Amino acid sequence: MAEEMLRFVNRSQKLPDKRSAAERRKDFGEIYAGFSSQRAQEQASRCSQCGIPYCTVHCPLGNVIPEWLRLTTEGRLKEAYELSSSTNSFPEICGRICPQDRLCEGNCVIRPGFKSVTIGAVERYITETAFAEGWVLPRLPIEETGQSVGIVGAGPAGLACAERLRAAGHEVHVYERQEKPGGLLMYGIPGFKLDKSVVERRWKLLEEQGIIFHLGQSVGHGEGALPLEELRQRHDAVFLATGVYRARQVKGPGAGLANVVEALSYLKASQTEDAAADLTAKGKQVVVLGGGDTAMDCVRTAIRQGAKDVVCAYRRDRNNMPGSRQEVLNAEEEGARFEWMLTPEAFLGDDVVKAVRLREMRLGAADGEGRRAVEPTDNIRDLKADLVICALGFEPENLPELWQQPDLSVTRWGTLDVSGKGHETSLPGVFAGGDIVRGASLVVWAIRDGRDAADAIMNYLSAGAARAATSVEE
Ligand code: FAD
Ligand code: SF4
Ligand code: SF4
Repeated sequence: MAEEMLRFVNRSQKLPDKRSAAERRKDFGEIYAGFSSQRAQEQASRCSQCGIPYCTVHCPLGNVIPEWLRLTTEGRLKEAYELSSSTNSFPEICGRICPQDRLCEGNCVIRPGFKSVTIGAVERYITETAFAEGWVLPRLPIEETGQSVGIVGAGPAGLACAERLRAAGHEVHVYERQEKPGGLLMYGIPGFKLDKSVVERRWKLLEEQGIIFHLGQSVGHGEGALPLEELRQRHDAVFLATGVYRARQVKGPGAGLANVVEALSYLKASQTEDAAADLTAKGKQVVVLGGGDTAMDCVRTAIRQGAKDVVCAYRRDRNNMPGSRQEVLNAEEEGARFEWMLTPEAFLGDDVVKAVRLREMRLGAADGEGRRAVEPTDNIRDLKADLVICALGFEPENLPELWQQPDLSVTRWGTLDVSGKGHETSLPGVFAGGDIVRGASLVVWAIRDGRDAADAIMNYLSAGAARAATSVEE
């Protein structure tokens, strides 16, 4: 083992530099800078090179983290990049937006005596260095297979699947209803967490690889949409990676008032140049309902748009909220206020919302995962608001009904059923992955599904080719 490693005892954890709250309130630029070479080497050298690396076990992609940390410490960055990109299709994205405290870093064994190795920041550093040095090239196929795959949805699941299939020589067509690929990377996650140029850089590489994008093209339903049957006829296999977009509604009187909006419409408008004027928080008293990462993104977007005041109301307390602690901290630094133990009951106002009526809650017993349940009290509070953003999570749309595909099986949660069939749905040759299978999840899990589904599709295609060859011989 390299002598430089195991330095966690005398080298403290250093995070990437973070811009001051006052500065970052003014723009949508990323808040963290990348590591310098020196800091990346120092921080990578803190790794104790565990025989059984729990960081790897808890990385959904099984990244070989200790190996690329050691290569980084030794300055062997090209090898570090080759290794890290062999298991992760978009390491520069995961390095920025994985909730590392719940995944790799949260399971680093030097904790709790010492602070974890800063794995995500090193992963970002390795890949950014590779881009700067020109080592990141499109993975061109060695030969064409003559088989084609249609992919519906250009989010991380669809793109990871496309990249892998194209590298193996398949013709790959991606059908995406938006004007740009990326899914929630482009139209959900705000620029202060993930700059759009990072997503566009990948898009360019995928095009150079020969993937054919059909942008602004819906599949399944709506005007001008391609029916799934047509896609099944055009291609030898199909991968569905459409994500989950049906927002959980706040029930109660006044939910239809103007300026009571759904989180994703708000975030998307904030990331689109022709944002509707009434969908900006500028000068408004904003209340965000919810306690997950989407709620934090809305809070922090509203602050950047120049809201008068931003309050986030959530029905549990700080210790029992689903969102990342770091994101709450970032939001508080930027000026957001949190009101805990409140659940919405009604929206007040004539045509336009003026206030939200909330019921105070109290904590009850813990569930199997240790999260405390909440119970209503008799107390009611009104919070003044002239923009209310509802961020209570997402559910899958009813695809069998919307797409008129009664044979497409779903689970009791409405997600596509691929149980026990290596990502294949109940329709032969139609595969699925990402949020539409898992429910609202994480980018890193979507990438994992895209990669695994690509392997399953390749097995399916080669089995089909073998069957065709046998029948010709007979
Ligand atoms: P998506 O990214 O949703 O992509 C699906 C694509 O399919 C979209 O482009 C959509 O337009 C397209 N599509 C849908 N239906 C059709 C159709 N009928 N025809 C054609 N195209 C269609 N995860 C993290 O790991 N870290 C974070 O910080 C984080 N922040 C988040 C912030 C917000 C606001 C939200 C909403 C989610 C966040 N997530 C985060 C979750 C993460 O974005 C998702 O888990 C991930 O994007 C899922 O990938 P996917 O490819 O399955 O779906
Ligand atoms: Fe950690 Fe995510 Fe990178 Fe895996 S992909 S090592 S979980 S940051
Ligand atoms: Fe290194 Fe921590 Fe992973 Fe162990 S768990 S190999 S110390 S990063």
